[in-house]
Amino acid sequence: MFYLPTRVLFGTDALKKSKDHIKAMGTKALIVTGKAGAALSGALEETCTMLDTHGIKWKLFDQITENPVLEMIISGKESFLQERCDFIIGIGGGSPIDAAKAISLAAANDLDIDTIYEANRFKQAYPIIAIPTTSGTGTEVTQYSVLTDASQKKKAGFGSELIFPRLAICDPRYTLSLPENVTLNTGIDALSHLLEGIYSNKREPLLYPMIHSGIGSILRYLPTALKDPQDLFAREELMRASLYGGMTIAQAGTTLQHSIGYPLTSLFGIPHGLANGIVMRDMMELYQSAIEPELQSLFSYLGIRRQDFYAWLDELLPQTRVPLDGTVIDTRVPEVMSSRNMASNPFPVSEDQVRALYHKLRERQ
Ligand code: NAP
Ligand code: FE
Repeated sequence: MFYLPTRVLFGTDALKKSKDHIKAMGTKALIVTGKAGAALSGALEETCTMLDTHGIKWKLFDQITENPVLEMIISGKESFLQERCDFIIGIGGGSPIDAAKAISLAAANDLDIDTIYEANRFKQAYPIIAIPTTSGTGTEVTQYSVLTDASQKKKAGFGSELIFPRLAICDPRYTLSLPENVTLNTGIDALSHLLEGIYSNKREPLLYPMIHSGIGSILRYLPTALKDPQDLFAREELMRASLYGGMTIAQAGTTLQHSIGYPLTSLFGIPHGLANGIVMRDMMELYQSAIEPELQSLFSYLGIRRQDFYAWLDELLPQTRVPLDGTVIDTRVPEVMSSRNMASNPFPVSEDQVRALYHKLRERQ
């Protein structure tokens, strides 16, 4: 099955082409961003100019940090309601766009910190426009939002079809300003999503051509964009791959490949994509027995061997210190086991297998 209720505009004129759709959304928007990324990308200024030109009012809420915490969502909800907005525009990487999705739900269903994850309360949402400025999460075309509960140092996602953005405006120019580390980490996140489209027990062969093409683009053009950040063609390839990754996880969900990395981010601040990357090889090896034919057809499409893929990863990923110890591992394994991603693994993965993966990572330090 493939279901996507998001209208996607892609290319350097995406915002221009979206004007009638934006006008149909309402008369006042809350624009949700981080402190700097949306402005640096040029997307914020272009969006505000477009809204002004068409007489649409807007209020900027630029309080979202990386790995948004629940308190930020509630403060965004208050701003949305106080300003009497009727739609929401998330501009940035996954953090501001996921926050925009959660703010929409919180405002429409009067959620607070204690009820934000309670899916049975999600009855409606305000329309969401997503304008990505990273090529990683694919959140512009997913029904997911990933938030952090700072009180428990716990990162967890939720999904609701209500928060599929109405409109995704994907302009690769907005990623030209990305620093090298964010380009790398987000590219690896997109790669995880595409691979998980093969790993997941909800894998959909209809998507394989898209998955293969996306992975091919990342292998070829991520090193190019790292070398020459201003290469618009490479940036376009990466943004398309990220979009394909989002379309993929919207159908197949993410797996342990994602949830095993969440504690590495919430405890040690390792960026999301990098956290996926440092366990990527172990995850492929864990799953391989269940997905051998799919992996074979992927590598035959790419024209490389699995060892070449591992070598590509080793060359790209920086040495990362992960200060895991036995106690940390024991306390975090139950959190991983209870994550919603575990339902999508290609076979049931045991607590012992998760623990073994963390110990393997620790031994490599
Ligand atoms: P991010 O946390 O949104 O942004 C990372 C950094 O890049 C921030 O410092 C940001 O600055 C900066 N930045 C963003 N765009 C920029 C640009 N064009 N130029 C210069 N700097 C820029 O990173 P992300 O990897 O895109 O998102 C990660 C989050 O998404 C995680 O919480 C992850 O769990 C989540 N995620 C969600 C989904 C989903 O389907 N919903 C899927 C995968 C991951 P500012 O802080 O100033 O904006
Ligand atoms: Fe991700």
